Amino acid sequence: MQTTPGPKDRNCGTCTLCCRLPDIDALEKPANAWCGHCVASEGCTIYADRPELCRDFLCSWMKSNELGPEWDPTIAHMMIYEQGPQTTVLADPDFPDVWRQAPYADALANMAANAEMSGGYVIVFVGDDVFKIDPAAAGPAAPDHRAPEPAAA
Ligand code: SF4
Ligand code: SF4
Repeated sequence: MQTTPGPKDRNCGTCTLCCRLPDIDALEKPANAWCGHCVASEGCTIYADRPELCRDFLCSWMKSNELGPEWDPTIAHMMIYEQGPQTTVLADPDFPDVWRQAPYADALANMAANAEMSGGYVIVFVGDDVFKIDPAAAGPAAPDHRAPEPAAA
């Protein structure tokens, strides 16, 4: 959605996940549908005139040095952003189990444990499915972490 370099000179490159995965009311775009202005693997066709919310948005990988290169949305097939106490993880429905797999399952559990310390939590959305990450699965004390339970609607 943006091409402004983030930390460590990151940039969106060919990523267009945030033009597809989130619902965007201002564009009447439902979740998991391409924005009508996006050309896959190329980007926004109205970039100079894109809405303000698109100009303002950067995913957490673009904003945070704490997320390593494996969290590049083009690699992870997930995009992350903060919504108040909620860390929102949108997974590409074409890769519905990626968040359950290494290295992401442990990383998400650690993320949830860290968030919990300040009253936060981590929610994964995959198509119509919603999961709350279990912070108790984090760290070496819980190597055999449990699968997250579906979150309440
Ligand atoms: S999900 Fe992140 S990296 Fe991908 S286009 Fe959006 S802001 Fe850029
Ligand atoms: S207007 Fe452009 S930047 Fe905004 S969601 Fe659509 S394609 Fe992406």
